[in-house]
Amino acid sequence: MSGGLRSWGRFPNVPQRPHSCSWRDEVAAELHKVVSAQGDTLAFGNGRSYGDSCLAASDHVLHMRTLNRFIEVDWEQGVVRAEAGVTLAEVLSLAVPEGWFLSVTPGTQFATLGGAIANDVHGKNHHLRGTFGNHVLRFGLLRHGEELLTCSPSENSELYAATIGGLGLTGVIVWAEIRLIPIRSSQIDCAELRFGNLAEFFALSAELDRHHEYSVAWIDCVAKGGQSGRGVFFVGDHARYGSLQVHERPKLRVPVIPPVSMVNKLSLRVFNDVYWRAHSPRRAHKRVSYEPFFYPLDRILHWNRIYGRKGFQQYQCVIPDAMAETATAELLRAISDSGKGSFLAVLKRCGDIASPGLLSFPLPGTSLALDFPQTSDLKQLFAHLDVIVRQAGGRLYPAKDAHMSGSDFRNAYPEWERVEALRDPTLMSRLWKRVTE
Ligand SMILES: Cc1cc2nc3c(=O)[nH]c(=O)nc-3n(C[C@H](O)[C@H](O)[C@H](O)COP(=O)(O)OP(=O)(O)OC[C@H]3O[C@@H](n4cnc5c(N)ncnc54)[C@H](O)[C@@H]3O)c2cc1C
Repeated sequence: MSGGLRSWGRFPNVPQRPHSCSWRDEVAAELHKVVSAQGDTLAFGNGRSYGDSCLAASDHVLHMRTLNRFIEVDWEQGVVRAEAGVTLAEVLSLAVPEGWFLSVTPGTQFATLGGAIANDVHGKNHHLRGTFGNHVLRFGLLRHGEELLTCSPSENSELYAATIGGLGLTGVIVWAEIRLIPIRSSQIDCAELRFGNLAEFFALSAELDRHHEYSVAWIDCVAKGGQSGRGVFFVGDHARYGSLQVHERPKLRVPVIPPVSMVNKLSLRVFNDVYWRAHSPRRAHKRVSYEPFFYPLDRILHWNRIYGRKGFQQYQCVIPDAMAETATAELLRAISDSGKGSFLAVLKRCGDIASPGLLSFPLPGTSLALDFPQTSDLKQLFAHLDVIVRQAGGRLYPAKDAHMSGSDFRNAYPEWERVEALRDPTLMSRLWKRVTE
């Protein structure tokens, strides 16, 4: 099968055959049909996970994007109920003009509600609002051969907890109800300033995070020695006045998949240096629409194609506070010594708000995320990084993963057995098979 759906990193490159339905009351029959023919399946949102967490063990998925209707909205309370295939972009186009915004958003607005719950995604305000799951009021969950169940903190609460961050394994989310936050403007007041090394990042984060709703840093993964960990710090807040208009910007597109990656040692060094120098060490303030602030990459459709036919992997880990500075320094040293990496390297301090989900990724500490073009020797570098993360008591993010060992997963996510006990036996992903067998 050369067509079919793939994960965002296109690695592993295993096309998924989609099965879909048009109406909520058809999901049970479709699930039964696929399971009877293939043995197992998995819900697939919009394929914005990078590795193999959204790939079914059978390579036959239930494609949920066709369930994309709003069911009920309450603009007094800021509560939206919608089908699970609705994207975050669709929620925003409806909610922003009414003065509401997503409580938590990842760096892409093309994730679906179902996918955002199943990976319990986090964003630039984790330090203040926790994860997406912290704002999910309830959802409808369909398990093979059962009636649609409503799950909330008070109804089917065990399934509610196991499904938030549950990697799509506890049932198919058919609809979800989420709480939004009020805004007065669709614009973001932001500030950016560059920093010279990792110690400066931690100092800025300690100083600025508590004063701003959003905070994140880009990091130069090529820089070495005294400049290791240099980068650009971004903070932002919803503007207090201005219009609530949604400015849809024209999208660019990477039209074809080049045979080899356009990201290489030379392009990486040049880009990172120019980007870092383009920012001032003094704080520069500006007001921008929410799209470029939250979703700069969404502007370029199919940007994942720049990595060529072999695709790419993202390495995202979180290191607990006590070890964050030393372990992050070690990780960056190992990465710059390897000469690998990409333009996309992100550092973010996560806060201590606990998620209701059993397998949620963030913990109080620092998250580092980097993309790497797929090459045959990448596994040596990842093995080295894994040792650093393991020894620091950190963990990897399943939504981005295609390599983590079973023992690393099981040690880092001790609640996995509770999720396994509640897994719908007809649902199985390539990731879950890899890390639990
Ligand atoms: C540019 C970019 C930036 C990103 N930034 C962030 C970030 O800042 N923070 C972050 O946390 N993540 C981030 N991500 C990852 C992305 O937000 C998550 O992987 C998200 O879960 C993708 O949603 P999706 O709808 O595409 O789901 P998919 O990738 O298709 O699936 C993800 C998981 O959800 C399950 N699933 C999907 N729909 C359902 C359903 N209806 N019922 C049950 N299970 C379901 C699947 O089985 C799978 O396990 C980013 C991704 C990209 C491409």
